Amino acid sequence: MPRRRQREPRRAELPASGLLDWTSSAHWSSEERPCRYCGGGTHLRDSARKPAHKTCAEDALRQQAADAAAAYHSTRLA
Ligand SMILES: [Zn+2]
Repeated sequence: MPRRRQREPRRAELPASGLLDWTSSAHWSSEERPCRYCGGGTHLRDSARKPAHKTCAEDALRQQAADAAAAYHSTRLA
């Protein structure tokens, strides 16, 4: 029986606005604080109300997903 070729995972196109929707006022603070990822000043807050740039939070999510995928692939049985 011939082996089936594995397909490459489909990659969804991200919207131009990025992965996260932070248009809600819940993501805004009048007080500028250092971003939890890069240390730069920001008025934005993540879902836990911690200071974060939206792009920094999106980069962190991408890294978490890549780490999880790498861990999954490294532990799969051959
Ligand atoms: Zn940042």
